[in-house]
Amino acid sequence: LGKIYAHMFLYPLDKQIAICVDRKINCLISLTATTLLDLKQSDVELINDAGRKIQIAYHAPPHDMFPGSVDPYVRKVAKLRLSETLDLASKTHATHIVAHINYIEDMHKYHVRSWIENSLELFEELIRLYRVPIHIENGYEQTPEIFYRMLKEAKNDLLGFALDIGHVLAYSKEPLEIWISRLSDYIREIHIHETRPGVDEHLAVGSGLVDWDQILAMLENNGVSINRICITIEPRNENDLDRSIRYLRDTLGLI
Ligand SMILES: [Zn+2]
Repeated sequence: LGKIYAHMFLYPLDKQIAICVDRKINCLISLTATTLLDLKQSDVELINDAGRKIQIAYHAPPHDMFPGSVDPYVRKVAKLRLSETLDLASKTHATHIVAHINYIEDMHKYHVRSWIENSLELFEELIRLYRVPIHIENGYEQTPEIFYRMLKEAKNDLLGFALDIGHVLAYSKEPLEIWISRLSDYIREIHIHETRPGVDEHLAVGSGLVDWDQILAMLENNGVSINRICITIEPRNENDLDRSIRYLRDTLGLI
């Protein structure tokens, strides 16, 4: 399945892997702080086994991670969790990791300059240490500006952008066109699911709320070659994964 991944974020680690191996779809493994704290050697072996059949990538724990915080203690927490994620990623030959930056405009806008400097310093240090590509992903961010400023300043091939289309539709005050045109040089991955504005529902691709032909055309028109980026399906359950895969194959012709 080429560069198609599934992110089964509501399932435990072993089940996420089993679901992906069964369907021969690459696995963006969802990590939480608890998964990392409880990680056993047998989990690493399970992942390495799966890695002989499919590609593996990791979604770093998203909660309470503030890599650009003005408080060095808070940045240290982000560094520790991201290091654990990257350590596992390099041990299991992952293609990349995905990390939220959690820039909450209302809270962080007064320190945006130091926020960018601090988070870039952290990401660049981690890339030097682990040499694993990091895709930073939008969550609650309302505009693409913070990502644009970070990625433009970084000029680092191993630091790219994961565009979560569902999160843009749920939370952004800018339309998707603006995100795509602003960040086209940096998009390495898209996360696809459907939702109504204002909520993050993670419904199956093909539910009818999103015009995917139009979005794919928008990407291509902005120079983002859909065959070269990772496409990650983010459903709530196995049925919706299968439905999304069928839609990608039969309607969009992506598989
Ligand atoms: Zn996502």
